[in-house]
Amino acid sequence: MFPAKIWREFPQRYRLEAAKCKKCGKVFFPPRLVCNACSHREFEEIKLPWEGTLVSYTIIRTPPSAFSDQAPYAVGIIETIPGLQITCQIVDADLDKLHIGQKLLLEFRLIQKDGKQGVLCYGYKAVPIDAHNS
Ligand SMILES: [Zn+2]
Repeated sequence: MFPAKIWREFPQRYRLEAAKCKKCGKVFFPPRLVCNACSHREFEEIKLPWEGTLVSYTIIRTPPSAFSDQAPYAVGIIETIPGLQITCQIVDADLDKLHIGQKLLLEFRLIQKDGKQGVLCYGYKAVPIDAHNS
């Protein structure tokens, strides 16, 4: 079940494609078929920027077992365009220096590897922009 779901979502996750309602302008990521604001069914495809602003975050110290070797780590809510927020893990970050309003870059990375079946799961992770300069 899990790999099939990942596969289905792969194209839009890889390209950061979102859908913008042609009637009311609301943006959805991942895209959906019916706008939940105005029930319109026509969308314009838009590309999201890879840079965003940290809106909120949590430090995870007791993660699910698949992620236990990564703890502690941060999960943040990143706003890429006004009103559109993506939740993902923050990597390569000094957890003590994370702050609301910080600029982050979204990167497409390996999230989880299932050792038994060799299944790889990819998705977005956010990296502080200043981490690239150090
Ligand atoms: Zn709409």
